[in-house]
Formats: sequence, structure tokens, C-alpha cells
Amino acid sequence: MRSIGYGASSDASRVGVKLIHPTPAARNMLAADPPPPGEGEERSDFRMTPLEAEIRRIIAVDGPIPVAQFMALALGHPVHGYYAARDPFGARGDFITAPEISQMFGELIGLWAAAAWNEMGCPGRIRLVELGPGRGTLIADALRAVKVAPDFREALAVDLVETSPVLRQRQQTALAHCGVPVSWHASLADVPEKDPLIVIANEFFDALPVHQVVRAESGWHERMVGIGDDEKLVLALHPDPILNFPAMLPANLGTAPLGAIFEWRSDALVTDIAGRLVEHGGAALIVDYGHAGSALGETLQAVGSHSFADVLERPGEVDLSAHVDFAALGNAAMRAGARVLGPVTQRQFLRELGIETRAAMLETAAGARAAEIDAALARLTEAGPRGMGELFKVLALADPKLGALPGFG
Ligand code: SAH
Repeated sequence: MRSIGYGASSDASRVGVKLIHPTPAARNMLAADPPPPGEGEERSDFRMTPLEAEIRRIIAVDGPIPVAQFMALALGHPVHGYYAARDPFGARGDFITAPEISQMFGELIGLWAAAAWNEMGCPGRIRLVELGPGRGTLIADALRAVKVAPDFREALAVDLVETSPVLRQRQQTALAHCGVPVSWHASLADVPEKDPLIVIANEFFDALPVHQVVRAESGWHERMVGIGDDEKLVLALHPDPILNFPAMLPANLGTAPLGAIFEWRSDALVTDIAGRLVEHGGAALIVDYGHAGSALGETLQAVGSHSFADVLERPGEVDLSAHVDFAALGNAAMRAGARVLGPVTQRQFLRELGIETRAAMLETAAGARAAEIDAALARLTEAGPRGMGELFKVLALADPKLGALPGFG
């Protein structure tokens, strides 16, 4: 993901799509043994996190693991994963997200959901599902904003998909007096399959494990995490090429040069969302940082304590994320029968929903703090290294029976 918190220095080159990152030639990756006792302590700069110790055990037993598995463990390990035990958001956390920048973000998404419900013919029961709600700020702001649509609020049940116990606690506090029923689930698969639904996912897909494959002479090889000669975790290529991988590559990528990296994620979640929309009716809104068309390049990044870090260092203590490939999401949703709108830039989406008018209203009421609202508006809508307006994209998926949805032109 992420937009690093206020006050952090920003390094745009780490956020943009890097085309063709040079990588070492394919090399055989046999797992090295864990470091002999005592060796780790000799390096004064080296502090192994509990998760790194566990990852080393896994590699020692099973051999090197795909980057995607490393990322899944680093973020989602139930005890030592990055999200398991901490609240990383806010100005003092590792990074800041759009709903934490301004209440306007969640409010406008709430109004978008009410408009989608209207478009669906105002069903008497509707599930509002949020994937990865963080501190619960977006959904709390959304529910407050839809007080202007009492019939929508009356029909609502909120389903939050969250794995982190710490963040579930935060969400409970944020929604304590929201006035609508709220349930928590570990995955979308646990959300009951009935009733039409509206799904919201802000900065969720960028945290899902990404596979990296690298083009070598012999074909496309999965990038793995192993243990190097210096006993540190190291990136290297699986010795065998992936069979028929070129057939999986998006057609627009043509023939990739040696050393090219391609990142891809499983389609399972977006296929599930799209299938539910087609079967039960509804719409989904996916907001994230990423690219509109599939591209070559390495975007996996680590952020800890307000700055970029090495992706292999301190696993479990730094956030890992990678650009979202919106073309891949849209194609998978279309294959599952959903209609796809966008992606459009976050700037276009928020402007069409009226963020400027909302900011002006808030500024009138804010007096001396009007400049803060102006700064938040700029941060959410502007281009450039500190703005989220162009880097972040918005994609909607819908039941094909739905008409137009706001924000997409
Ligand atoms: N939407 C929030 C938070 C984004 S961070 C915001 O915009 O502020 C990612 C969120 O997804 C966190 O709440 C994290 O705990 C959750 N998460 C990450 N991987 C998950 C997974 N596989 N299943 C469910 N929740 C997950």
C-alpha cells in the first residue's frame, strides 16, 4: 500500500511501477541449514524477529518458499504476523490510509453505497460487507453519513471481514453506537450467502499475497525466499520454470525481456465477490493503489516506522504490500459474470461524488481548522508523490442488472 504517515519522507520511486528490475540469473535454490548456534549473535546489526525464526524453520524443512507465502506469513501469521498484534494506522503509525486522513472519504463511500442500494430497487435487506476495515473509521463515517437515507440504514446489516484481533477490538469501539447490527468474520467465505450485498475494500487487495515470477533463459521462474550463503534470508529463483506460464501472461505484455518480473495474485476472492453479486444482486467498490493495466515490474514494498524497509528484513514487524493489478481484477470479475466499472482515479471518483462541496461545508464549520480540511482534500485527490489522487484507483463490480453507479463518469 501505502501512503506513509504525515511527517514521513516520501520516496516516489519506491511507490511507482518499476519496469524491469534487474535480478540475478536463475540459480539453484537448495535450503541452507539454519545458522549454527551463536552465529546470529556475532552480527551486531542483526536481530531476528520471532517470525523470521519460524520462517527459517519452514525453509529448513520444506525448502525455499514462494514470495507469496512469505508475504502471507509476514502479514497474516496468527501470532507473529504484522496485523495480528498491532494497530499500524494513523499519523503515528507506520502508514496512514484515506479514511484516517479525512472523514470525507468514508462519508462519500457511504453515500455511494446508498445510491447503489437505490439502483438495486431498495431491497428490504442488504448486507454491507467491508473487507479489512482497519480501525473501523471508514464504516463508522459511512454509517453516520447515511443517516440521510433512513430506509437504507433500516435495511442494513454490516459484515466485517477481519483477521486481526487487535483491529477487531478497534472496530468494535468505533461501531459501538452505530445503531445497525454488526458481525465479524475471518473471511468472505464465512459471510452468509443470502441477501443482496454491497462490498467495500479500501487498501485490502494490496495486502493479499503476491507471486513474483521472473523471466530467465529457461522460462518464467517463481521467485522464492531462501537462506543465502551469509545465512540471511535471500530472494532467488526456483530452479524449474513454471510450465506454460506464458499462456497465463496478459496479452498486452508481449514478449518480456530477460530479467523481467511479473507480479500476480490469486483470483479466488474477486471471483467469489463477483459470483455473489451475480447470484444475489449488489455491487462492490475496490479502492487501492495500483495500475489500471497489467504491467511488468516489481512493486512489493515494505514499510515500517514511517519509512521504506527491505522486504525480507524484520518479517512480521514491517508492513508488506504490492500494487493492485486492476485489469486482472476486472477480467476475473467479468469471467464470473459481473459488470465492471472503471478503474477511475481516486481523484475522479471523489470529485464526482462531490468531495469539493463536502470539504467547503466542513471548512465553513471548522473555523481556524479549515486549512486541515483543505490539506486532507489535497492529499486525497492530488497527483504527485504525497497525493493519493492518481496512484489510487477505484473499481466497481456490479450485478449486470444494475444501472449506472455514481463516480464512474
Ligand atoms: N481498510 C482499512 C485498512 C487497510 S489495511 C483502511 O483503509 O484504513 C488492511 C486491513 O485488512 C487490516 O484491517 C488487516 O488486518 C486486514 N487484513 C489483511 N489481510 C487480511 C485477510 N487475509 N483477511 C482479512 N483481513 C485481512
